[in-house]
Amino acid sequence: MSEKETMIRLEGIKKRFRTKASELEVLHGVSADIKKGEVFGIIGLSGAGKSTLVRCINLLERPTAGKVWLDGVELTALGDKELREQRRHMGMIFQQFHLLMQRTALDNVCFPMEISGVPKAKAKERAKELLELVGLADRMESYPAQLSGGQKQRVAIARALATEPKVLLCDEATSALDPNTTAGVLSLLKDINTRLGITIVVITHEMSVIQEICDRVAIIDGGLIAEEGGVEEIFRAPKTKIGQELVMHEG
Ligand code: ADP
Ligand code: MG
Repeated sequence: MSEKETMIRLEGIKKRFRTKASELEVLHGVSADIKKGEVFGIIGLSGAGKSTLVRCINLLERPTAGKVWLDGVELTALGDKELREQRRHMGMIFQQFHLLMQRTALDNVCFPMEISGVPKAKAKERAKELLELVGLADRMESYPAQLSGGQKQRVAIARALATEPKVLLCDEATSALDPNTTAGVLSLLKDINTRLGITIVVITHEMSVIQEICDRVAIIDGGLIAEEGGVEEIFRAPKTKIGQELVMHEG
């Protein structure tokens, strides 16, 4: 068997934030190799730099140093126009869903396709398919305010899939949901991973989420990867102090 191909490669990612008063380096040189088709988890305490790292993957934040590759293309070398093209290959979902409140579920899912110039009828057709895929066939005309948290996250997932991404980035996607709803959203994500072959990056502070759906996991601590490995291995025998703290916290 040949070794799995790389989908996302991070090389020496550093990120510094500058404010008037001070300068803060949040990421000190993070490297990682995320394979095609895997569900890769990134865990760590609050403030460890998880959200900053995921925003560096799709270059919502420009790394201060280091390189990011997506499926063989170096994103950090691209200009704005090419970067916009490449960003379509990455969908993102957030803790707070970020839906457009004045649009129906269907129109929320249509939105990224409108932006990228997909004809309206075709966008609508695809949006319907996606809402069926996430189990919301009967809520297409509902507004976000009429939906539960789990349903809102399903709309956000359908919207993230609208541009047929290679990668789905999930930043605390289930952290606002109750345990039952979380389980449903996680099994949907796993289903998307296996059925559509989409690579998924899961950022969370919830260990149970990692155990539920990830293949591999990296522990980030103080802006660096402390350890990385198969989920079973890390949860059975964490090598670092932070790993032990995170895992034992759970038990
Ligand atoms: P996590 O997602 O692991 O909780 P974050 O990546 O959100 O961590 O934050 C890591 C650190 O970076 C925190 O100290 C946070 O205050 C700081 N930080 C994040 N974004 C900014 C920003 N835009 N400007 C200044 N500091 C920031
Ligand atoms: Mg965060």
